[in-house]
Amino acid sequence: MSLLDDLRAQLHKRKRNRERKRKLKQGHKAQREAKAIRKLRHRIAIVLAPRTMWDSVTIGNIPSDASAVAGYVNGIFHTFPALKQAFPNARKISIAVTSSVDAHVLDIEAGNASNADAPSWYRRHDHKRYGKAIFYTSAGNVAALVSTLSAAGIKRKQYIIWSAHYTDSRHVCSPKVCGFPRAEATQFTTHGERVDESKLTWRFWNH
Ligand SMILES: [Zn+2]
Repeated sequence: MSLLDDLRAQLHKRKRNRERKRKLKQGHKAQREAKAIRKLRHRIAIVLAPRTMWDSVTIGNIPSDASAVAGYVNGIFHTFPALKQAFPNARKISIAVTSSVDAHVLDIEAGNASNADAPSWYRRHDHKRYGKAIFYTSAGNVAALVSTLSAAGIKRKQYIIWSAHYTDSRHVCSPKVCGFPRAEATQFTTHGERVDESKLTWRFWNH
């Protein structure tokens, strides 16, 4: 049985239990089942969440059937508003290029935000609105970024790393796979400098 089948079977069972408890007028037990149902639905949504995400400074270069897309909320390529219109049904991840603005992601690279900006941005990040903070940076900078955050008391499990490691082989960085520190997602290729493709693990969506 796959993980998804297992979760669906558990959901079915919890729903039956909830109905039974309601009939027996055991309100608190029915509520307990309802809580378990919400948790299972969340887990199922994570299992079903996209494993590929696309981004481009030119929205027209992104495949029209993309199920996850990323775009910028500030900077010279302010694509996010148009992205929302072009991909109404895709999961949309917003990127801030400077730490003065909040979004799902802070873009840490030369010319944009720096490692030193990460702790204060993290502290101002609206977790309720965006979920766990995501840091985008080159695979070669992940170790330095993690140690900057750690020195500020922010643990690795508290945020998500989206690394850039252009090997052209579809992968998510980890010491075993490519030698770089573990990430939850990796931008691994750019198709003819037109559109970037990232591989995501389920943890990327585990907000
Ligand atoms: Zn890698």
